[in-house]
Amino acid sequence: MPSFDEILEKQSFTKEDLKLLLAAEGEEMSKLFDKALKTKLKYLDNYVHLRGLIEYSNRCAKYCLYCGVRGKNTKVERYTLSDEEVLECAHLAHKLGYGSVAIQSGERDDKEFVDKIEYLVKEIKKIDNGSLGITLSLGEQTEETYRRWFDAGAHRYLLRIEASDEDLYYKIHPKDKKHDFRKRLECIDSLLHLGYQTGTGVMVGLPFQTLDNLADDLMFFKRKDVAMVGMGPFIPHPDTPLYEYKDQIPSAKDRMNLTLKMIAVLRLMMPEINMVAATANQTVDPLGREKAIMVGANVIMPNLTPNEFRENYLIYPDKACVKDKPDQCQTCLDLRMESIGHKVLYNAWGDSKEFTNKKSDR
Ligand code: SAM
Ligand code: SF4
Repeated sequence: MPSFDEILEKQSFTKEDLKLLLAAEGEEMSKLFDKALKTKLKYLDNYVHLRGLIEYSNRCAKYCLYCGVRGKNTKVERYTLSDEEVLECAHLAHKLGYGSVAIQSGERDDKEFVDKIEYLVKEIKKIDNGSLGITLSLGEQTEETYRRWFDAGAHRYLLRIEASDEDLYYKIHPKDKKHDFRKRLECIDSLLHLGYQTGTGVMVGLPFQTLDNLADDLMFFKRKDVAMVGMGPFIPHPDTPLYEYKDQIPSAKDRMNLTLKMIAVLRLMMPEINMVAATANQTVDPLGREKAIMVGANVIMPNLTPNEFRENYLIYPDKACVKDKPDQCQTCLDLRMESIGHKVLYNAWGDSKEFTNKKSDR
C-alpha cells in the first residue's frame, strides 16, 4: 500500500486514496494543505475573485431538512427585494469594482418569479455595457427556464448536489416529488449542456455523512467536470428537522477541518476550477475564509444584500458579516487577503480557467 507522501504525489486518486487523504491529521494534514496551496498558486496565481452576493428572496417552496429558510419555517419573516433594491446592489457591485454579482434565493418556479429574474438579469446587463458577470443560484428549474436566463445574460449557475449519494440525499431532504434526487441530477446536466459555467457542491459534516460519502462527492465533481465548486460546513439550525441530530455530528472544529481537507483534495484533483470560500466557513471560525483560501479556494462572495433583510436570510444561525456595510466589507477583505499573501482581483469576471480552457479546446 502506498504511503501518504506517495499518494500526495499521484496524478489521479482512487477512492481509497481520497479517503486516506480526507482522514489526514496533524503533520499529514499540513502536508496536504501545503501541496494544495502550491498547486493553486501554480495554476491560478494568488488572485481572489469576487462575486457580490444579492440574497434576492427568502420565499421558498421547498422543505430541505437543514435550511433555516425552508418553506415550513413559520418563524421567518419573508421578503423579496424590489427591482430597485436589486439594481442598487448591482450598481454598488460595479462601483466597488467587484466585476460579478451572484443572485441567490429560496426556490420558486412560478411564472412571476421566472419572468422577474429574466428581467433583472437583462437590467443588470445594461450596467456599463454588460461589464458585470452574473451568477445565479436559484435552485431547480426547467431546462427552458435555464435557457431563458442564460439568453438574458447569466453565465454561471450554482446548484449544489448537497449529497451525491441517493440514500444520504433522502436523509437530508423529504422523499417526495418536490425533492427528487434524479431531478437534481438532471438539472445539473441541463446547466452543463446549456453552456453555463456550472457549479455544484455539498455541505460537510452532515448527520449520517461518512468519509465514503465525501470521497464519492469528490469523484462526482470530477466526473461531471464542473467549473466551480462551493463547499462549507453544515451548521445546525434550531428551527429545522436536522437540528435533533446536532449532537451526532463532528464538532465545529472538526467540520471546519474536514471542509478544508475537501477543498484541498479537490484542488489537487481539479487544479483549475473556481472554488468558493463559503461564508459558512467564517461562521464556524472567524478566520475560516482565509483558511479556505490558503488550502485552495479562490473566490469570495461579499454580501451586498441591504442590511435590513440580511437577518431574514439566515439559512443557518449566527451567519458571519450580517451587520457589516458593503464598503467596510471591501476594506476588510483587501486587508484580510493581503495578510495571507493574496490579492483581490477587481473589475474582472474571474471566469473558471478550467471552463475557459475547455471552451477553447472545442
Ligand atoms: N435555494 C437555492 C438552492 O437550494 O440551491 C439557493 C439558496 S440555498 C440557501 C444555498 C445553499 O445553502 C444550499 O445549497 C445549502 O448547501 C446551503 N445551506 C442551507 N442550509 C445550510 C446549513 N444549515 N448549513 C450550511 N449550509 C446550508
Ligand atoms: Fe429552499 Fe434552497 Fe433552503 Fe432548500 S436550501 S429550503 S431550496 S433556500
